[in-house]
Amino acid sequence: MPSPRYASFALALPVYQVFTYALDDERPQAGTRYRLPFAGRVRTGLLLEPGDAGDIDPARIKPVDSRLDDAPVVDAHMLALARWLADYYLQPLGEVLFQCLPGYLRGARPQRSLAVIRYRLAGVGADELEALARRAPKQWEICRALAASDAGLTAAELKRVNPNWHPAVRALEARALVTRDTAAPPPAVLVAGEQPSPSPEQASILQAIGARRESFGVHLLDGITGSGKTEIYLRLIGDALAAGRQVIYLVPEIGLTRQLIERVGERFGEAFALSHSALTELQRYRAWERFRRGEVGIMLGTRSSLFAQCERLGLIIIDEEHDGSYRQDDGIRYHARDVAIKRAQMLDIPVVLGSATPALETLHNCERATWFRYRLDERPTAFPPPPIQLVDLRQARLEFGLCAQSFGRIEHHLGCGGQVLVYLNRRGYAPVVMCHECGWQALCDQCDARLTLHQSVQALLCHHCGHSRALPAACPDCGHAEIRHHGVGTEQLERGLAQRYPDFPVLRIDRDVIASREMLESRLERLRSGAPCLLVGTQMIAKGHDYPAITLAVVLGADQALFSASYRAGERLAQTLFQVAGRSGRGDRAGEALVQTRFPEHPLMRELASEDYRAIAARLLDERRAFGLPPFSRVVLFRADAVELDAALARLGQVAEILRGARGIEATSLVGPIPALMTRRVGRYRAQLCLMSADFRALRSVLRATLAAITELPSSSRVNVTIDVDALDF
Ligand SMILES: [Zn+2]
Ligand SMILES: [Zn+2]
Repeated sequence: MPSPRYASFALALPVYQVFTYALDDERPQAGTRYRLPFAGRVRTGLLLEPGDAGDIDPARIKPVDSRLDDAPVVDAHMLALARWLADYYLQPLGEVLFQCLPGYLRGARPQRSLAVIRYRLAGVGADELEALARRAPKQWEICRALAASDAGLTAAELKRVNPNWHPAVRALEARALVTRDTAAPPPAVLVAGEQPSPSPEQASILQAIGARRESFGVHLLDGITGSGKTEIYLRLIGDALAAGRQVIYLVPEIGLTRQLIERVGERFGEAFALSHSALTELQRYRAWERFRRGEVGIMLGTRSSLFAQCERLGLIIIDEEHDGSYRQDDGIRYHARDVAIKRAQMLDIPVVLGSATPALETLHNCERATWFRYRLDERPTAFPPPPIQLVDLRQARLEFGLCAQSFGRIEHHLGCGGQVLVYLNRRGYAPVVMCHECGWQALCDQCDARLTLHQSVQALLCHHCGHSRALPAACPDCGHAEIRHHGVGTEQLERGLAQRYPDFPVLRIDRDVIASREMLESRLERLRSGAPCLLVGTQMIAKGHDYPAITLAVVLGADQALFSASYRAGERLAQTLFQVAGRSGRGDRAGEALVQTRFPEHPLMRELASEDYRAIAARLLDERRAFGLPPFSRVVLFRADAVELDAALARLGQVAEILRGARGIEATSLVGPIPALMTRRVGRYRAQLCLMSADFRALRSVLRATLAAITELPSSSRVNVTIDVDALDF
């Protein structure tokens, strides 16, 4: 009997350990999935590395249940990247590894064959056909279609011949008149579509990046909105494909509209796989598998597409690199931009970031040797992005959020045949519902938050937990009959504009109306027609879209950011305003951008109206430096949530005690534990503890020395602790 072999395994569990099992495979391979007995159940685990029993008594090591894969589903490079991610972001390795796989493979489902079955006609004589035509017209119809096709027909193609094809084909197969063969789908062909010739500005950037395409480097395209960054990406992709390499092209969730997909398709034909949240698990798995097999050269997708595996990765592109959707905040916490940079470094390949409003971290990092910054200051069209003009609301009367001056400009632009964009990052009808008699306010039972009135569904909704409640007919506290609402959301804005401008369509785009990608596409299609209309929306409309007929952008609700508790509020406001303004005037007419404010004298507002993004970003960075805030320091946030606030605070108190005992803690600062900004959310109380330091090495060494003790604190379902490295808000 051969001596047993052992291997360590990672399970998709929120625990930091790995587990040893016995197995009798000849050559156990890292990255292969197994079924493992664990705590009375059978779970899926991933083999990390073969080894020996170590300190564990071999008699206590359980054997694996069964092996799921013949070949690894996680390759050596991805395993190394996952280990780095788990270590850097202090996340459990098992959870990280399963997160790197497409959802389809996270459980026990076997890898699927992507082979396509093709049906062919076996020799059928003319008499036989004639007999079929009389006896079985359905079978005859199918035979005729098969006879006309040399390559045979797939199920989908047969369905077009006759929706009820299956019984007929089975009958034909039974008589050996039809045969089937299984072949892997042919690799997609790269067709070089027509390329516009690059501007001198684009050409020099292409040359500079091209010269470094064989080695690691971070290249930032710092280009104004509409300056042709996408054209640079497409050319770089073309060069990489021509060199036999593969490319990952990441875009923010909402950037993945038909517009971009069509553009990539026009240039590269079928040579790309697509992955985003609107696809099914199976569709995403197919995309992942096709890219992995090298059948397609491009993986175009959102955040998690970064973990697509392949043999010949040669380039990673991250469009709109400042966008918040690259940060994953639930489950495994990581920033896709930063992980992408690490991945590129491990593979010694370039990574290209693009934005009109780069993140302050990125601008700061451009001072490093391996970071290159290129500016794009020209729009290929006639007009530069419009400057931001402030509209002073101090003396103004508002009607559904807009003042007379804004109405005047809206009417002017509609009259000239332009499209108008009105930006308000607040969905629903009204954010405040209250009784004027006693001061009662509609609040969420589960969260420290107000309920928002949604007129379309006649309900009060919590935007944090989804709790919904009917609008009461009278005040629940004093019984007063009149309950009033205050403030304006996109629903009210849409209704008001539709009443005021009945001759123009009003298109609202926010999470409430865009239940499906189809609905979003149909609205965007109307915009693309170029006919005058009004577009109302939340941050969904602020990014990535290119609609040349928009000539006016109006921003509402910007003042909120001036008084936000987040140190990033200024950066986010500047990014949003320049992005929204950048939607305007991209065609053959000059654009205009208005920001309504009650604080035109506020220093940030004055800057927004007089400086460009780069100047403002430089000033914000100086401010961060002066206050020792990121990127001049690093932040690790410990969060706890519990059914009682005291339990959450007490658990973080224990964490703080462990941290304080670590060597090097004096080089860091520890703030908390304190209740989180929104203390109660979805029925749980939340607290936080912030560890911060300008000395990143000291911070790492404190964490390394304490992580085991922190994660070994007795766990209970009553208190849940998570660690957030490089937390964006605290
Ligand atoms: Zn009342
Ligand atoms: Zn709530």
